[in-house]
Order: sequence, then C-alpha cells, then structure tokens
Amino acid sequence: MTNPNQSIIPRDQHSVSRDFISDNALKVLYRLHKGGYQAFLVGGGVRDILLGLRPKDFDIATDATPEQVKKLFRNCRIIGRRFRLAHILYGRDIIEVATFRAHCDDNIEQGADGMIVRDNVYGTVEEDAIRRDFTVNALYYNIADFSIHDYCGGLADLEKRQLKMIGDPVERYREDPVRMLRAVRLGCKLNLTIEQQTAKPIAELAQLLEGVPAARLWEEYKKMFLSGKGQRTFNQLKHFGLLPYLFPQTSKAMAENDDFAELVTIALENTDSRLRDDKTVNPAFLQAVMLWQPLLDKTEKLVAKGMGFNDAFYKSMNPVINQQSQTVSVMRRYAGVIQDIWALQIRLKTNYGKRVWSLLEHPRFRAAYDFLLLRAEIDPSHQRLADWWTEFQEASREQRLKMLAKSKSKGSKRRPRKRKSRANH
Ligand code: ATP
Ligand code: MG
Repeated sequence: MTNPNQSIIPRDQHSVSRDFISDNALKVLYRLHKGGYQAFLVGGGVRDILLGLRPKDFDIATDATPEQVKKLFRNCRIIGRRFRLAHILYGRDIIEVATFRAHCDDNIEQGADGMIVRDNVYGTVEEDAIRRDFTVNALYYNIADFSIHDYCGGLADLEKRQLKMIGDPVERYREDPVRMLRAVRLGCKLNLTIEQQTAKPIAELAQLLEGVPAARLWEEYKKMFLSGKGQRTFNQLKHFGLLPYLFPQTSKAMAENDDFAELVTIALENTDSRLRDDKTVNPAFLQAVMLWQPLLDKTEKLVAKGMGFNDAFYKSMNPVINQQSQTVSVMRRYAGVIQDIWALQIRLKTNYGKRVWSLLEHPRFRAAYDFLLLRAEIDPSHQRLADWWTEFQEASREQRLKMLAKSKSKGSKRRPRKRKSRANH
C-alpha cells in the first residue's frame, strides 16, 4: 500500500478520513489552518483510525505557539509548566494542541541517569516526529491537504503490526522510563508485537521506574487497567519484569500465594468484562484486590505478636496503602474507598440484626459485595455468606424479614458461646 521511501502520503493512498475524526477536533484543525498555521492530527488519533479502531482522544500538533493558539480560541486554556500546551474546551471534551517540539541535544537538560528534566524548545514537524515514542505514534494527518506525513516509518510498522521505538530504545527508555510501560500497554491494547530491539532492553532497565513520580505512574495505571485489556497488560508487565516496580507488595504476595494470584487474575478479568459491557469500574476496586493479601499478611504478623485479629486488620490498612503509594500513588479519595471495601469484608459477616439494613445502604456495599464474591470463588468457605447477601438483595421486603428472623436465631446462638468464652478468661 505504501512506498517506504515516501514520507508524504496523499489522501487517496491512505484510509484516514474526516468521518472518523470528532467534530471538535476538526473544528480546531480548521481554525488553526484558516489562521495561517500548520495543523495536524497526530498520535493515537491517526494510529487508531488506521487500525480501524475508534480513537479515545484526538491530539493536535501545530507550528502556532500556545499564545497564538489562545488568540484563535476563546475557549482555550494554557496548561503545563515544563512544556506548555493549549487545551481547547468544548464542555467536557478537551482537544489538546501542542506546538511542534524539537528534540536535539543542545536544548535538553539531562539528569545523571539520562532522564530528561527539561525540554522546552519549539521545532518543526519533522523534529516533532522524532521525539515521539513509537513510529506508529508519529504519523501526522495534515488538514491542509488530507495527506499523512510519515517521517519514521510508522505506516510500514503498522502494516507489520509492530511497535517500534524511534531512535535507540535504551536511550529513549533512559530519557523517560514510562515508555517501557507505554510499550507494554500499547502492545496489548492494539494487539501489536513489540519489535525485538524495542522489547529487549526492558527487563534490564525496569528498575528505572523507581525514578518516576508515583503520581505519573497513577495516570499510567489508569490507562493500563481501565481500558479493557487489564489482564493481558498485567501478564505482560510481569513477563517484562516491570510488575515489582509498580506493585511490589502484590508481586511478592502473588509469588508466595497461588490463591491470591488467582484472585488478582479473576479481578482483572472481571474488570475487563465490565468495561466490555460498558459498566462503570472504580479504580480503587482493583487496588483493593491487589493489596488484599499484603493486608492479610501484615495483619497476621501483628496477630502473631498477640494483637486481636480485627485490631490488627484495621491497623494494617494504612501502612499497606502508604507503602503502595511510594510506587503508584493511591489517591486520597480512593484510599478511603479501599479501606471501606476492606472493612466491609468484616462487617458483611454480620448478616443478622438491624445492622444489615445500614450495610445495604452503605455507599460501598456493592463494591464490597463484589469483592466478597471474588473471594468466594477462591475460597469456598465464603460462598454461603456470599449467597446469603445475593439472596437478600434480590428478596422482597417480606422475604428479607424472614431471612433476618432466621439468621437472627443463628446470631443469637452465637452469643452464649461468646459469654462462655469470656467467663473462661
Ligand atoms: P492512547 O491515547 O490511545 O492511550 P496515545 O499514543 O495517543 O495512546 P497519549 O498519552 O494520548 O497516548 O499521547 C499522545 C502522543 O504523544 C503519543 O501518540 C506519542 O506520539 C506522544 N507521547 C506520549 N507520551 C510520550 C512519551 N512518554 N514519550 C514520547 N512521546 C510520547
Ligand atoms: Mg491519545
């Protein structure tokens, strides 16, 4: 289809059409063009259309500076300090417009480990292309004549269905170790093979992730696990030795405990299938699962020192979450959700008395119940309790009262035993 020596592919020789580009993105492209600037659709937008997929978002590249972009659009906000970008806002839809960036040695400051700490110089479209990560991400759709500019061989790689790093992979990973995660994520999402030279250094350089801020890894976490290919991505992260640098406690617990490894796998599968069905997923749910065994292990250690189980369980929550936050952030609002889901695993055991009604009303009841179902898949001893809650939710008010009356008598049978044990002390 394409001639590898040709870097500008005319409109009749490729499959990107305006029908696949959102109206807002087209509006931005046209206005930049009419304003006398170059305007290209670039990145995932072009790549996904060429692969026959629906792009998640549309990124635009231009030779206009952010200030010049702002003059053209009333609904424009300039963001970023290190490299300024223009965001054009259409309600909740944001179109990101980036000025062509140069990537040559004199305008990059590198840290001791080769990581880029500052690059803030504008460039040409060709320069912009080579500082991007993978060849398939460096395809530019020109709104002026609907041609595609391909300076890095991205079209040929798309045909080969391979993800290939632009430039020297080792150097590019050193500049920005997140590219290792992007290689794995995009490989899984797009069903592309990671080209050999691009894949080879990953295992050896995995440790570089230690230098990446936890907040940035959180952004990447969401993209990896909340876009429907979580399970495959997780397995590939493991394969490339990246997992211990993202989820150290989870990784260790999975290696020691097959049941827990199975629990994580089922949770990932579940999340993927919910996303396929267009159901919502809370990013905290998966984190609650991934940290479950570490929580139990820590609890066990405190119990061994003589602390009561419940006290030890609650006391272990914060340290486990804080330790995770050292690598991939756990946002404050999600930390609360995780703790609620965990605490409810204990509270759901009380399936009698007035508390049942308030549990049912708890904002995290549904997530906690789903969590219990997962646990029951691994450990059948939880199945009866899980079934009880399933039935209770589905029952009419009358049936519910009957169920409670039944479980109440079971509950009251427990009490004498408690008293007896107290009397023994
Ligand atoms: P998707 O949006 O489907 O997750 P994407 O490739 O569009 O994938 P974005 O994060 O939206 O990912 O980035 C847009 C483009 O910016 C990429 O296609 C790539 O050209 C460039 N890019 C993003 N991150 C990096 C990086 N770490 N190093 C170099 N270029 C990058
Ligand atoms: Mg994108």
